[in-house]
Amino acid sequence: MSINAFLNTISNSARILPIVILYVTEGCNLKCITCSYRDALPGELSLQEIIELAGQLHDFGLKHIVYSGGEPLLRRDFKDICGIFKQHGVKQSLLTNGLLLEKRFNDIFEYFHEIIVSIDGANAETHNRIRGISSFDRILKGISKAVKNKKGRPVVSIRTVIQKNNFRELPGLIDLAKSNGADRISFLSADVASNAFGREINGAAPDETDISLSAVEVEKFREIVNNVIIKYSGDFYSGFISESPQKLLKLVDYYGALRGMNEFPKIFCNAPMVSAVITSTGNIHPCFFIESYGSIRKTDLEALINTDEIKQVRKDVRNFMHPRCKTCVCTMNISKKNALFSRF
Ligand code: SF4
Ligand code: SF4
Repeated sequence: MSINAFLNTISNSARILPIVILYVTEGCNLKCITCSYRDALPGELSLQEIIELAGQLHDFGLKHIVYSGGEPLLRRDFKDICGIFKQHGVKQSLLTNGLLLEKRFNDIFEYFHEIIVSIDGANAETHNRIRGISSFDRILKGISKAVKNKKGRPVVSIRTVIQKNNFRELPGLIDLAKSNGADRISFLSADVASNAFGREINGAAPDETDISLSAVEVEKFREIVNNVIIKYSGDFYSGFISESPQKLLKLVDYYGALRGMNEFPKIFCNAPMVSAVITSTGNIHPCFFIESYGSIRKTDLEALINTDEIKQVRKDVRNFMHPRCKTCVCTMNISKKNALFSRF
């Protein structure tokens, strides 16, 4: 039981930081059209700095570390990083593009509760076009290795960012996840309203119409989602499809809102109350999308996590007042009960 985590959910001060998303590198070996992370940034956190960070996070009640990036498996000392957090006894999850999964799985699988692999198309052509590099077959080999591992394995999930180039493949993606032995699949819409995930190319935002749906496509997408809700009802019920039918329909509403067809879906999120995102160079953010409130290189975590600035962000998010939340595609909502019982 965690009274402190519960108190986090009802106030603007953080007593503990149970979930941290750590970008171990912002370098990537794919070239997705939705993102411009390519090369690692100069001055990434060293292993020694991560050891110190892990100690501070442990003191602040860390329960779950999620590795993201960039592509975490590109970092050569990634296994060492996992080992550091293992010593602190925290749950570990990996967000990966899967390109190096087959090669590195044996080295790292023992650390993970869940490995989440991004796949952006139900076939090689769509996936490779979106991801910018021929990678579909290698990623499926990685998933196959993971799900067939005889020494026990983490939960293996597929995650797809649904957008203009793949929304018609929603049913095919569910079938693909099943036929490749994944444990579940989840869907997000593409973030076209911010420069999170490095969506800024040469200082200019890319054309969102390459990614977002036209009004006609929104209507088609709604029809596809409604059919999926009927055809795959058992998969919603079993949790194989992570989202509820209502949440899947919110993806349609998000793209509809971008075309002025409806309001943006109402969000319920408490990411800044229970988590933080730390980038590969040590900047700390309330979530993927809101600006940094400091650097763990310059200031101790203890002094950082309850500044007036971050407390104001928490207040704005709680009151549905933060402008960034209104168009958000990726929310987190840890209920008071889950916080109390430390379910992170
Ligand atoms: S979306 Fe992920 S896999 Fe694609 S370029 Fe960006 S970091 Fe790499
Ligand atoms: S709704 Fe989105 S932008 Fe707002 S706090 Fe949550 S994750 Fe951040």
